[in-house]
Amino acid sequence: MNDRTLPIVSPAPARCESHREPLRPAEGRGRRDAGDGHLSILYRGPLASCDYDCAYCPFAKRRDDPERLRADRAALERFTAWVAGRDHPVSVLFTPWGEALARSWYRAAMVELSRLPHVRRVAVQTNLSCRTGWLADADLTRLALWVTYHPSQVAHDRFLAKCRELSRLGVRHSVGIVGHPDHLDAARRLRADLPAGAYLWVNAEEGRRYTDDEAAQWAAIDPLFGYSRFAHPSAGLACRTGESVVSVSGDGTVRRCHFIPEVIGNLYDGSFERALRPRACPAATCDCHIGYVHLEPLGLYDVFADGVLERIPAGWPALP
Ligand code: SF4
Ligand code: SF4
Repeated sequence: MNDRTLPIVSPAPARCESHREPLRPAEGRGRRDAGDGHLSILYRGPLASCDYDCAYCPFAKRRDDPERLRADRAALERFTAWVAGRDHPVSVLFTPWGEALARSWYRAAMVELSRLPHVRRVAVQTNLSCRTGWLADADLTRLALWVTYHPSQVAHDRFLAKCRELSRLGVRHSVGIVGHPDHLDAARRLRADLPAGAYLWVNAEEGRRYTDDEAAQWAAIDPLFGYSRFAHPSAGLACRTGESVVSVSGDGTVRRCHFIPEVIGNLYDGSFERALRPRACPAATCDCHIGYVHLEPLGLYDVFADGVLERIPAGWPALP
């Protein structure tokens, strides 16, 4: 896990993004999906273990027992088969609690899904601790990685070498870091050393209030940090989740997003499809990128375009 955002289950170690001013429902509606039945799915199975040991994370160095791992694998294979059998366009972002790419079945699912013609994008949040050889089997026109840098867990040079390897292989990816003051030098150094074509995002730390000077320091690294600095007021505003974006858990339970506990159906009995419709957000605020990127008044589909799920702005590195 990386950009934690947690709804229904545990506490989030790192907060995601925001905007300072409240938006009105009719304001700045971003581009909607093309109307071709495209569905974006945020999938999170039972897996809840990680090979890293981040101090703030409830999944640090946690191990899943064999039964949970078997259940996770079976759930993922069922999900992958469902996507393979779908006849409308689909994009998938895996948002595991722990580190998915440490498990062979997630690497296999990424490869398999990337090779399906109706899958537009398959992406995963990862700490990039895995080897990169498996990517050779994937269709890199569809696969992407959402990579988070954890300076306490991996040396700069080692992490940078992995990122450069992704660039060399032509693997679409973003790289990010939590905006903790202790990370500032590491973030600056990484930004300086990363290829210019790699977008480095910064997530505001959960619960931290940034002064304008502090925010400016982070914005010098990530020009879109302003979206992360504050939680977005979202109550009553149109959000694509529950219409063209859904959250799916291992047993196929469908919710509109990771943050709203109401169940709208199940993937495997088809009941969720009858529930898809335009919806307003019932929550007061939305503070994580994987949520508010779909909040229509923010217009972030125009900012990220084809990179909505993997968090790569359109035209990067040509942003002002
Ligand atoms: S890398 Fe692992 S320990 Fe660190 S925040 Fe992500 S899931 Fe937690
Ligand atoms: S804005 Fe959308 S993603 Fe965020 S909490 Fe509301 S419904 Fe969920």
